Amino acid sequence: MLQERVSDNIYVFTSDVYAQVTAGAIVTREGAILVDSLPFPAESRDMATFISRVCRPGVRYVVLTHYHADHTYGAYLFPEADVVGHSRCRTLLTQVGVPALEAAQAEAPELEEVALRPPDVTFDDGEVSLQVGQQVVRLIHAPGHTRDSIMVYVEESRVLFAADTVMPVPSIVDGDMDEFRASLRKVTELPIENMVQGHGEVILRGEVQDIVQVSLDYLDAIEALVAGAIKSGEGRESLRKSSIESCGLSRIPLNGLVQQIHVANLLALYDRMTS
Ligand SMILES: [Zn+2]
Repeated sequence: MLQERVSDNIYVFTSDVYAQVTAGAIVTREGAILVDSLPFPAESRDMATFISRVCRPGVRYVVLTHYHADHTYGAYLFPEADVVGHSRCRTLLTQVGVPALEAAQAEAPELEEVALRPPDVTFDDGEVSLQVGQQVVRLIHAPGHTRDSIMVYVEESRVLFAADTVMPVPSIVDGDMDEFRASLRKVTELPIENMVQGHGEVILRGEVQDIVQVSLDYLDAIEALVAGAIKSGEGRESLRKSSIESCGLSRIPLNGLVQQIHVANLLALYDRMTS
């Protein structure tokens, strides 16, 4: 796990074992706010140990940016904290997350001790603020990657945890294109010093606008590509040959996983546009 400090009181943890998924901690004298929790117990526990060292009062809130396993599994290691998220995150974790975890536990014995913690503090639309100590943190509904996705913005240090609204390739398989575009535009409206992606490296201020624009362009490009495949009659399977570079992104990040996400996007979009 890579551990870095992006401001005086904000730490980012990046997984070595699963798709460079990130989690973060906003530390105050009155306790910490954790943003996501990493998927595998060994790394989540290392993160918990580190936070207990830099923040004696412990974790007050665990914010879940959406219900996917790679962001939520570690929350059980913070039993003293309230779990906060979108109301749909609660529903999705209960309905989809529970059977998915049981299936995952059958394959991966290291997940045996994981117990899901759906948010017990929720909000619906728009945004809500959390305050711990002097730190004000805005939770902003940002659907698109999933319907329950939220971003976490730390006012004082202008750090945005964009979660999977910003990653090396947008993933739309479980989401909605137009909502995704609207959420990316929300990112551009915030003054940002550092932006923590849901997966991959921390983005600095000067790169934020470009990265968002490249993501918006990518969404347009895959829509045009799929529309072309439908119109020409080339069909669904032809999309598997598409390279992510042809839609303006690099295949290097996340150890090549981005190309798989790209093809999954195209197939999902094809199914949506032909149904
Ligand atoms: Zn993710």
